[in-house]
Amino acid sequence: MMQLFIPLNFLGFVYREIRGALANIERMFDILDKQPQVLDSDDAIEISPTIGTIKFTDVSFQYDQRPILNSVSFEVPAGKKIAVVGDSGAGKSTIIKLLFRFYDVASGAITIDGIDVRHFSQQALRRAIAVVPQDTVLFNDSIYENIRYGRADATHDEIVAAVKLAHLSDFIESLPDKGNTKVGERGLKLSGGEKQRVAIARAVLKGSPILVFDEATSSLDSRSEQAILSALRDAAKGHTSLVVAHRLSTIIDADQIVVLSKGKIVEHGTHVSLLAKQGLYARLWHIQHEQQNLPHA
Ligand code: ADP
Ligand code: MG
Repeated sequence: MMQLFIPLNFLGFVYREIRGALANIERMFDILDKQPQVLDSDDAIEISPTIGTIKFTDVSFQYDQRPILNSVSFEVPAGKKIAVVGDSGAGKSTIIKLLFRFYDVASGAITIDGIDVRHFSQQALRRAIAVVPQDTVLFNDSIYENIRYGRADATHDEIVAAVKLAHLSDFIESLPDKGNTKVGERGLKLSGGEKQRVAIARAVLKGSPILVFDEATSSLDSRSEQAILSALRDAAKGHTSLVVAHRLSTIIDADQIVVLSKGKIVEHGTHVSLLAKQGLYARLWHIQHEQQNLPHA
């Protein structure tokens, strides 16, 4: 954690640094995540993958000495949607960080379009993946400017199109200054659901073949949840998407659901096939639906 005696002008510096870096929002992770752990090779591929096929083969990973992922394998064909579910601490966000190559795998391999992620330059790799992070960082700037962090040279029309796909148009219309309304310090004037939709608009604007969505854990009312759901569905069209979900209702339509427990895949299949299996997924589903008092699907 940041210590309290860090002088304010330093915080100002950090703020400007981060803000400057955010033409590519995902660099946020680098800045917060200590020193970069990975290096480009001399002959790194500078061209980004464009199709978006993802493959994890026997991927294991540890933090320090602690095993986090254990021989994880799955494949996402281009344009399909895969969901990863599991308890907190199961390793879901770690899967995203490895795909993005914040860390290198301990063993096994991750490929995109058949090429090991270690062979791309980090820039080329990260251009191909747009991330909607678990906690979206917004700056006290207008909504439109916050969305523009997805791609600095986007035109106004492109931003408006992203807003539409992220189902933010009605919300923006309701604001005094429409898209030019400031969001407040750290986006405090926006609800959690609205912030995630701003992040979805950013990701859409980036135009990457792969879209990664790390669902926020904070509870949402069912209207916000529905709004995010529709936004995600539209944003994912034409992209390969990887969704980490806490609310299983978010991922009913996934082409494949991977159930992670303590760093291992314990089940995989579609929503319907996993329910029929009556294993961990079915248990989680029934628990959530009893809590929400929703009819069973
Ligand atoms: P999930 O997203 O499923 O909740 P994570 O992938 O974030 O889980 O974390 C998996 C495990 O790795 C957790 O036990 C977590 O405490 C640990 N972990 C996450 N990040 C780090 C880190 N930077 N250093 C050490 N341990 C970490
Ligand atoms: Mg997580």
